[in-house]
Amino acid sequence: MKQGELVYAGKAKSLYRTDVPGQLYVHFRDDITAFDGGKKDVLSRKGNLNARVSAKIFSLLEEHGIPTHFVRMEGDAAMIVRDLRMIPLEVIVRNIAAGSITRNYPVPEGTAFDPPVIVIDYKDDARHDPMLNDDIIVTALRLLSRDQLAEVKALALRVNAVLQRFLAGVGITLVDFKLEFGWDGDRIVVGDEISMDSMRLWDTATGTSLDKDVYRFGKGDVLAVYREVAARALPGGEQK
Ligand code: 5GP
Repeated sequence: MKQGELVYAGKAKSLYRTDVPGQLYVHFRDDITAFDGGKKDVLSRKGNLNARVSAKIFSLLEEHGIPTHFVRMEGDAAMIVRDLRMIPLEVIVRNIAAGSITRNYPVPEGTAFDPPVIVIDYKDDARHDPMLNDDIIVTALRLLSRDQLAEVKALALRVNAVLQRFLAGVGITLVDFKLEFGWDGDRIVVGDEISMDSMRLWDTATGTSLDKDVYRFGKGDVLAVYREVAARALPGGEQK
C-alpha cells in the first residue's frame, strides 16, 4: 500500500491518501497536546502505543457487530481506515463523574452514572468545542436527523458496554471516553481513534490515572502509564 498525499494533519494524527480509493492511511504521531494545544510535547513511541490499542479496540467493536472505519494496522504506528464523511461531533460517554462535568456542574468527582451520561460537543477548536443539545444538532446545525442522532447515541452506548467489559477484565475502570462518527456511504460508523488520548481510565485497584490526565495535570510518567495500558490490553504485545 502506497502512502500518498497528506489530506489532513490533526494534533496527534496525520491522514494520507493511499493507492486504494476510499481508504486512508492514518499515522499516529508521537505528539501529545492538551488544553487546546496550549501544552505540547513529543513522546517517543507514544504513536505506536495509541495506534495498537486503538486497533485492538476497533477490532473488538467489529467482533461485537459495531461498525467502525478500521481496516487493518499498517506498520508500526499507522492504520488503514475507510475514508468517512466525518460528522463534526465529539460524543462523550461518562460512567463516572470526572473532568469537565465536575468543573462545570455541582457533581462530585467519582459519582457513578447509571445509565451513563452522554454529552455531545461541537468539534471546532476555534470555538473550544462548545457543548450541544439535540435541537442545536438537528435544527440549528442540521448535522443529523433526530433518528440519526438517536442511532449515534445508541451506538455510543453499545461501544461503552463492550469497552467497559473488556477493560474491567484487565483491571481498568472506564470513567469516560470520546467517540467521533462519520458516514461510510449511507451507514454511520465509528471513526477517529479510541486510545489513552481519548479515554479516561483509572486503575481499578488503586484509582490512579492511566490516561492523558497524567500528562494534562503533570501526574507522573505518561509514557509509562500508556505502556501499562498497552501491556494489559495487548498481552504479549507490549514490547513491540
Ligand atoms: P472532559 O470533557 O472531561 O474534558 O473529557 C471527557 C472525555 O472525553 C475524556 O476521556 C477526554 O479524554 C475525552 N475528550 C474530550 N474532548 C476531547 C478532545 O478534543 N480530544 C480527545 N482526544 N479526547 C477528548
